Amino acid sequence: MPHTISSDVCEGVSDCVDACPVGCIKPGNSKNAKGTNYYWIDFSTCIDCGICLQVCPVQGAVLPEERQELQKKPQ
Ligand code: SF4
Ligand code: SF4
Repeated sequence: MPHTISSDVCEGVSDCVDACPVGCIKPGNSKNAKGTNYYWIDFSTCIDCGICLQVCPVQGAVLPEERQELQKKPQ
């Protein structure tokens, strides 16, 4: 199952972006509820390796399951 970035928990640190082996973590185009940048995961190309979850310093920002309702995407 793909991983999810909870948009309003993410702080835009972007450690996950460089760590993702398939490049499926993309920048949002607005601020989140914390007023920071956020990233989102393309579910169709995520290979569920879990590296983003391991490297993210923000507790609860990455979830090891597909949770579309928590993840904003640029409109
Ligand atoms: S999910 Fe974590 S590592 Fe990735 S951008 Fe958000 S805060 Fe940073
Ligand atoms: S689980 Fe792996 S492939 Fe999916 S977004 Fe995270 S680092 Fe990328």
